[in-house]
Amino acid sequence: MVTHDAERLTLARLPSGIEIETTIHRYRGGRSGPKIYVQAAQHGREVNGVEVLRRLHDRLVSAELAGEVIAVPVADPLTFDRVSYTTPEALDSINANMNRAWPGSSDGTLHERMTAALWERAREADAVVDLHTGSPEMLTHVVFMAGDDGSRALAEAFGTDLLLAERAGEAANEEWSQRGFDGKLRVAATRAGIPTITPELASNKRIDESAVEAGLEGTLNVLRDRSVLSGAPEPRGERRLARNHLGRVTATDSGLFRAESTLEVGREIEAGTYLGTLYDPTTYEVLQEARADRDGILYALTKEATVTAGGKLANVALPLDNEDD
Ligand SMILES: [Zn+2]
Repeated sequence: MVTHDAERLTLARLPSGIEIETTIHRYRGGRSGPKIYVQAAQHGREVNGVEVLRRLHDRLVSAELAGEVIAVPVADPLTFDRVSYTTPEALDSINANMNRAWPGSSDGTLHERMTAALWERAREADAVVDLHTGSPEMLTHVVFMAGDDGSRALAEAFGTDLLLAERAGEAANEEWSQRGFDGKLRVAATRAGIPTITPELASNKRIDESAVEAGLEGTLNVLRDRSVLSGAPEPRGERRLARNHLGRVTATDSGLFRAESTLEVGREIEAGTYLGTLYDPTTYEVLQEARADRDGILYALTKEATVTAGGKLANVALPLDNEDD
């Protein structure tokens, strides 16, 4: 038997006095076992994780559970309401991105207070799954911290075609610290000794059946792997191991980007592969012939054509035989 309860939790207070609240679901099994924390939509436009947790709810209320599952379908109601990735600067000028503010602080900025309230729940867990949703042109994948065996095991259990090992701390490149990656939930939790993964499901802003399916089956696999649900994980995806390529192929100027139409994400490409052309939409002048800067697996290619200088055009992951390579 499963005991389910849904609790409203106050995350922070807005200047007007309105409280930001969200709902936390707890599913307690009849037998003792580990505690798993799952959340979605800390980037509010990434709605597929919410639908994953709604379907997970239907499965869990009638399941035989050992231990406990804590699920937060809308981690950031502010970005959820705006269908956005970040909050307006007026609300948090330091951490507009909630996923740079973990583990947070109860007397910090708005997002730091919100993450601190959720961290009280996440820190009790034996494993954490932070569901995200990438762009429609991104290959569904799972990210974990390179060198953390527990997190890698979770990523393998979740099962996608691509598993990305992301280096952290001193092993990471400069971009890692510049972009404040220390403040990701995955990094904070892994450093606290909790195996953690970030599944990146495809297609934000829309409920995409294949993305939801990948998220639900992957999360069920994590629960099986941890023996919260009985049975072995069902092998899913090719689970190719690769290194996260932070140094993306970026736009050298602002303009309109026409991606090479024959390229598909998931393909292995070579350094120098033509990715598309950036041009000035008023004069048609070619500003950049974008090419891959290394051999690897193309896992994202921008199809939103209007780009600004420095914006991402493509991501190429480096295949690894061993994550310590
Ligand atoms: Zn996200």
